[in-house]
Amino acid sequence: TLSFLHFTIILTTLTSFVLALVLPESLPSELQALDIFTELATDPVSMSSVATDFGNLSTSVPAAVFYPSSPKDIAKLIHFSYTSTKPFTVSPRGVGHSINGQMFAPDGIIVNMLSLGHGHYDSSTIVTEGPFPYADAGGEQHWIDVLNATLKHGLMPRIFTDYLYATVGGTLSNAGIGGQAFRQGPQISNVYELDVITGTGEIVTCSRDREPDLFYGALGGLGQFGVITRARIALEPAKKMARWVRLIYTDVKLFTSDQEKLISIEKSSSGFDYVEGQVILSEAQVPGIKSSFFSDSDIEKITRLAAQNQGPIYLLEGAAYYDDITATIVDGNVKSLLEQLNYESGFAFSWDVPLVDFLDRVHYEETVLRSLGLWLVPHPWLNLFVPQSKILDFDSRIFKGILKENKAAGLILIYPLNRRKWDDNMSVAIPTEEIFYAVSFLWSAVANDLDILQNENNQVLSICEDYKLRCKEYLPHYTNPADWQKHFGKKWSKFVARKQKFDPKALLSPGQQIFRQLQ
Ligand code: FAD
Repeated sequence: TLSFLHFTIILTTLTSFVLALVLPESLPSELQALDIFTELATDPVSMSSVATDFGNLSTSVPAAVFYPSSPKDIAKLIHFSYTSTKPFTVSPRGVGHSINGQMFAPDGIIVNMLSLGHGHYDSSTIVTEGPFPYADAGGEQHWIDVLNATLKHGLMPRIFTDYLYATVGGTLSNAGIGGQAFRQGPQISNVYELDVITGTGEIVTCSRDREPDLFYGALGGLGQFGVITRARIALEPAKKMARWVRLIYTDVKLFTSDQEKLISIEKSSSGFDYVEGQVILSEAQVPGIKSSFFSDSDIEKITRLAAQNQGPIYLLEGAAYYDDITATIVDGNVKSLLEQLNYESGFAFSWDVPLVDFLDRVHYEETVLRSLGLWLVPHPWLNLFVPQSKILDFDSRIFKGILKENKAAGLILIYPLNRRKWDDNMSVAIPTEEIFYAVSFLWSAVANDLDILQNENNQVLSICEDYKLRCKEYLPHYTNPADWQKHFGKKWSKFVARKQKFDPKALLSPGQQIFRQLQ
C-alpha cells in the first residue's frame, strides 16, 4: 500500500507536470523553477472558483490561482513578478464578496487567501489581554473566527460589519462599517498594526509610528499598496446579550434627527452600542424585513401602516449590549432612550438575543436565502456616503422620487456616522461634513430586473451629481483614472505617491481598475 507521503509526492509531481503543460502564455515560464510553483493551479475547478464575485454581475478568469501556505509564499510570488522581465498582476481574494470584480486579475494570478488558514502557516487568531487588549489575526481570517477566538478570553472586536464572513484583509482594504462605527469608528480606526506584503514583495510590519505611510495607505487602500497578512485588532470586554430594538417612523425628519440624537451619545453606558436604520419604500417591501426578528402579526401591522402612509417608512434599529450584572441598567437606559424618541406610537419592537446571534444575524439570512437558491443571484449593490446636510434632499429625490415604484427584493440601509472617528490619513474617501450617512442599496435581482436596478443605480448617481449632493461611493467602482481622481479628491496625489512607492509596477489588485500595470 502507498503511504500518505508517497501518495502526496506522486500527486504533487503529477500536478506539477499537468501545470507545466497548461501554464498560460501570459505567465513567464521561469515560474516553473520556483518552489512555490506547485501552489499554482489552472484546473477548471480552481479557475471557476474565482471567476466571479458576490455581485455576480461580471466574470473574468485569471491566468492562474495561487494557494499559498504562508505569507512568505505570497512575498516570493510578488517579488518574482516584480523582478521578472514579464511581470504579471497579483490580486488577493478573501471571500470574493466584492460586487464589481474588484478581486479580479485578468491575465494575472489570484491569491486564494483562505488557503493560508489551511496550510502550514499558523494563522489562528492570537489574543493578548491587558489594559489595551488586542488580537493578531491573519488577513485571511473570517471575522466570525476572530470573534469566536476572542470570546474565549471574554473579549471581542469593537466594531463589526453586518456580515461576519468577509475576511479581515478584505474589509480593512475598504473601511469596515457597521452599527457600532458611530462610536468606535470604522474597522480601519480600530487597528494597531499590520503586516503588509508590498508590490515589490517585501514583508513590512507597519503602524502609526512605524512605516506610517504604508499603514495609513493600506487601511482603506483598496488593495493597492500591499497584501494585508496580519492585523492587530483592538478589543473590548464582550457582553453576553443584546437588547435589539426596532422602531418605525413615517416622517424622515423625525427618523434622521432621532438617529443623529442616538449617535451623539458618547458613553456606551447611556446609549445604544449599535445604531443603524432602513428605508422601506412601500408595503410590498415590508415582508423583506421580516427575518428572525418580527412575528407575522408585527409584519401585518407594519404593512398596514406602510399602506396607509403611501410613501416610504423608516426603521430605526438600535442595540444595547448587556450581561447578567448590567441587565437592569439596560432596562432603565433603553426605556429612557425610547421615551426621548419620536417613532410612531405602538411601533416599538424589542427582542433580547445572545450577542453572538445578534452580531451574526446576516448569516441566518444567508442560510435561509441559500436554501431557497436566492443567495448567489446578481447583486447590483450601490453604497454611498451622503453628507448630513443633503440627506433630506436625497430622501425626496431618490426614495420618494425615482424609487417610488421600486418593488425589488433587497434592503436599503441608512445610518449616520461621525467623521471625527475616521482618520484622514487613511486612504478611504469620505464626505467633509462632521456627520454623514451610509446609504446602501442592497438589491437582489431575482425578478428579471437586473437592467432596471442597474439603471436605477445610475440614476441615483446622476442625481447625486446633478444636484450636487456631494455623495462619495463606498466600496467604489470606477473604470477610468479621471473618475478615481475625482473620487479621492484632495487625497488623490497622496494615493498616487503611495502607489509609486509601494507598488511601482502597479501589480496589485488590478480589478479595482485604478492604475494600469507597468512593465
Ligand atoms: P474580496 O472581495 O475577496 O476582495 C475585495 C478587494 O480587497 C479586492 O480588491 C481584493 O484584491 C482586496 N483584498 C482582499 N483581501 C485582501 C488582503 N488581505 N489585503 C489586501 N487587499 C485585499 N462592508 C462593510 O463595510 N459593512 C458591512 O456591513 C458589509 N456587509 C456586507 C454584507 C454582505 C452580505 C457582503 C457580501 C458584503 C458586505 N460588505 C460590508 C462588503 C465587504 O466588507 C467587502 O466587499 C469586503 O471587501 C469583502 O471582503 P472579502 O474578503 O470578500 O474581499
